[in-house]
Amino acid sequence: MSAVRDDGDEALLHFDLIVLGGGSGGLAAAFRAAEYGQRVALLEPRELGGTCVNVGCVPKKAMWLAADLGSRIAQAAQLGFDVPDAKRAAFDWPRFLTDRQRYIHGIHDSYRKRLDRDGIVVVPARGRLAGPGRVVCDSGTQLTAPHIVLATGSSPTRPDLPGAALGAVSDDFFDWCAAPARVAIIGGGYIAIEFAGVLQALGSQVDMFVRDQRLLRQADGELVEQLQENYAQQGIGLVFGYDLAALHRENDGRLRMEAIDGTVRAGYDQVLFATGRRPNTGDLGLDTVGITSDEAGDIPVDAWQATPAEGVYAVGDICGCGPALTPVAIAAARRLCDRLFGGKPDAKLDADNVPSVVFSHPPLAMVGLTEAQAREQHGDDVHVYCSNFRPMRNALAETAQRSLFKLVCVGESRRVLGLHLLGDAADEILQGFAVALKRGITLDDLHDTIAIHPTSAEEIVLMR
Ligand code: NDP
Repeated sequence: MSAVRDDGDEALLHFDLIVLGGGSGGLAAAFRAAEYGQRVALLEPRELGGTCVNVGCVPKKAMWLAADLGSRIAQAAQLGFDVPDAKRAAFDWPRFLTDRQRYIHGIHDSYRKRLDRDGIVVVPARGRLAGPGRVVCDSGTQLTAPHIVLATGSSPTRPDLPGAALGAVSDDFFDWCAAPARVAIIGGGYIAIEFAGVLQALGSQVDMFVRDQRLLRQADGELVEQLQENYAQQGIGLVFGYDLAALHRENDGRLRMEAIDGTVRAGYDQVLFATGRRPNTGDLGLDTVGITSDEAGDIPVDAWQATPAEGVYAVGDICGCGPALTPVAIAAARRLCDRLFGGKPDAKLDADNVPSVVFSHPPLAMVGLTEAQAREQHGDDVHVYCSNFRPMRNALAETAQRSLFKLVCVGESRRVLGLHLLGDAADEILQGFAVALKRGITLDDLHDTIAIHPTSAEEIVLMR
């Protein structure tokens, strides 16, 4: 170990930085601090990589890719390929799990190698604060450091209602080895939409139950309408204004849902709660340094990731600053370490114009303001340009699914405030445009750019 060891009775190890949590934010903090020559301890009782790598972005994207491929097999048959029984091309889910987990183990290995190379001490234990500058591990070992970064992430929640324990959450989904015949998904956010698309494409009959009158409250309304239409065409049931009251197990083992208005929906093999996540701040010893988490469990931080306790910082899902996205946690952690150890006193997270993608089928990608947000801020000075089209492959295969791209601009110069894309490859297209939007481009800049033809992306530079 590269830490300095105390000679007292208790094992007491001194570091420059202790990081609690080996997920995206924690690893980013540890790596960046080590790059600046700091002695770092990283505490993680479970697999390295946290939610993103183990029960989030990575396995989800793998399932999304499988689902995407499945729907393309069906299209291939419509385009003249001799695909036997393409509508029901059998998917060997357990076999795919082996590939998925092999990929994830590869990420674990690369983390371990890099941690080792950078001299970061990995402690496979849960840690809690035990007073200023001090952390105690569940193994009893005590560590001290002038800087402590809390990066313990969040966990999926179940609503507080009778029978809720009968339902699954996103962590459970990643243990499934087959598509359940009938699935009810509660919620209309990122996870609900993504799992609905994947499960429907891989053979489940999915019904979504949403308490609002639409999916994805924070996204642009017109794109969401188009997504809902696409999902309905894929056979996904959409029930809005639905408030679940209780969940029961029937004699045949299936699940029955009772709504607050008394309606009953039965016959589900799985009910999946996608009703949000809660920060893992419960057993962190926050009281020992005078930090109080808020009602949602979030740790209060300022714009510099600093908590009210000197030398204690928080990044990622536990502090509710910026959207709960892996790249946001990573950016916050890197900038924090640039500031603490890298001589960059102004480095801090800029949470404006963070691009994000909902991996629906097709994906929905967004950056900047929605039309509604823009109108709220700029009134009639907002100008909106849309392109609603059927991408070439869908037109060739006579598949109904449409794409909708939308550009939100402001003022005479038509500065671009928001870009919203629903369509094939939207996830890949958005990244470059997000750079441009952050740099303050205008509609003229887009028109000045030669289109790449024939693509979906060219619609963005041709909108008028
Ligand atoms: P979201 O906040 O996106 O959505 C939660 C949904 O559950 C909302 O529709 C909400 O409704 C509903 N809800 C909450 N409580 C209840 C309840 N008691 N009964 C019924 N419905 C309820 O959370 P997710 O869990 O989907 O995802 C968490 C976060 O993780 C996301 O916000 C995102 O930041 C991140 N994420 C990002 C992904 C990506 O980048 N592709 C993928 C997955 C997650 P209402 O709107 O009415 O509150």
